[in-house]
Amino acid sequence: MKDFLTCSATELARRLRAGELTSVELTEACLERIAAVDDKVKAFVLVDAEGALATAREVDEARARGEELHPLAGVPIALKDNMVTRGQDTTCCSRILAGWKPPYDATVVRKLKEARLPILGKTNMDEFAMGSSTEHSCYGPSHNPWDLDRIPGGSGGGSAAAVSAFMAPLALGSDTGGSIRQPGAVTGTVGVKPTYGAVSRYGLVAMASSLDQIGPVTRTVEDAAALQELIGGHDPFDSTSLDEPVPALVDACGEEGLAGMRLGVVKQARGEGFDPEVTRLFDETVKKLEGQGATVVEIDCPSFAYALAAYYLIMPAEASSNLARFDGMRYGLRVEPEDGPVTAETVMAATRGAGFGDEVKRRIILGTHVLSAGYFDAYYGSAQKVRTLVQRDLDAAFEEVDALVLPASPTTAFPLGDRTDDPMAMYMCDITTIPANLAGIPAMSVPVGCSATDGLPVGFQVMAPARGDATMYRVAAVVERRSDDVASACPAATWKEGE
Ligand code: GLN
Repeated sequence: MKDFLTCSATELARRLRAGELTSVELTEACLERIAAVDDKVKAFVLVDAEGALATAREVDEARARGEELHPLAGVPIALKDNMVTRGQDTTCCSRILAGWKPPYDATVVRKLKEARLPILGKTNMDEFAMGSSTEHSCYGPSHNPWDLDRIPGGSGGGSAAAVSAFMAPLALGSDTGGSIRQPGAVTGTVGVKPTYGAVSRYGLVAMASSLDQIGPVTRTVEDAAALQELIGGHDPFDSTSLDEPVPALVDACGEEGLAGMRLGVVKQARGEGFDPEVTRLFDETVKKLEGQGATVVEIDCPSFAYALAAYYLIMPAEASSNLARFDGMRYGLRVEPEDGPVTAETVMAATRGAGFGDEVKRRIILGTHVLSAGYFDAYYGSAQKVRTLVQRDLDAAFEEVDALVLPASPTTAFPLGDRTDDPMAMYMCDITTIPANLAGIPAMSVPVGCSATDGLPVGFQVMAPARGDATMYRVAAVVERRSDDVASACPAATWKEGE
């Protein structure tokens, strides 16, 4: 592996600007690294060497001509496979989208192309972003670079593993219930879910539209801030996009100390189900933040106890209607019934039967059930009320504090296969991440150390009020400066290539 691959994206961008490195050299190094190690990590489901190198060459030529470039121009990036890329397979790791070539680019993809970041390829994920381990992918699971027998989190385990194993300095993920933050926590990387609406969802294949949000996957807080500044901003193609300027996020990372800041420790995020090592590292980090001038108080969020249940009613309800478009006519796979008449209905049934995996089917059935006339009030209606309670608890909390802190995942990475037969255990992975999606607030995970029991990374989560992304980054940057450099300690750095 080339030494510079362990550098942050910000440092790589500086070297490119200073002429110490070319984008072609950097992109080739990433592609070589992918070729050398991705057969064991399986982070990528598509690698576009030609496209990435073409962009890299363009950047180098433009720089040589003295053109003004975006600060991140020439730094390669990987995309979760649920963001549409024009003319290039976008499968959401589902058989049902096999062979579909989107006719347009997602807004985030367009922005990356305009800023000229070489796109290395598409990363593995749980099918349609449903899962916490990447084991529900039609391509098979990704592996955690810290321990190849363990999960890299999900649904965006591919993006997190690509960044953690130094195959890509930057990646994008999508977070509906934790799919950026939990993979970040278990792979020792930084994962951010911006404020709902801060980053356009146009061209993100929808899972649960009121919860979905695209965000950065990086090795440093500053890299995430720089990437969010690039992909954020108003988009007329997304009616839920915030119509306001992108806040100065990189600047927020530079602020020293936390004097005058009030932080709230969520009372509910400890105890049963939480690994004692996760709690120990969390408590130690909170002490360090106090040492940086923050005032810390405990905050009671009683509705958090019901947030997970509400999410697993609202999310399947929205997903079941979003996934109705996959009908065997318009996208990808088309399967005709083995016998009987070929009608729109029988083709749709045969295609969906063959094209969707078990977890997706489970959620479609759950979603259509909770939306059905007889059960709507009891399930979907009650879940929406709980959602309002979660929002109220958070509104009340943010009257008292500037940011909330809690673990990003209740445990470290568990062994592959451990929870595949137990959906409830899998859903429990999201216990601390889901409230932010239900309330639309920004939240991010920052690595703070490794468990003394299993040596695996632990993530610390910061939540801020809606539109308070800059506050979140400010706190996260202090957390990072006061913690060990976990991302660089990933054992993947010492792998002998070809082994
Ligand atoms: N693990 C959660 C789920 O399975 C979150 C998914 C996500 O954020 N995309 O729904």
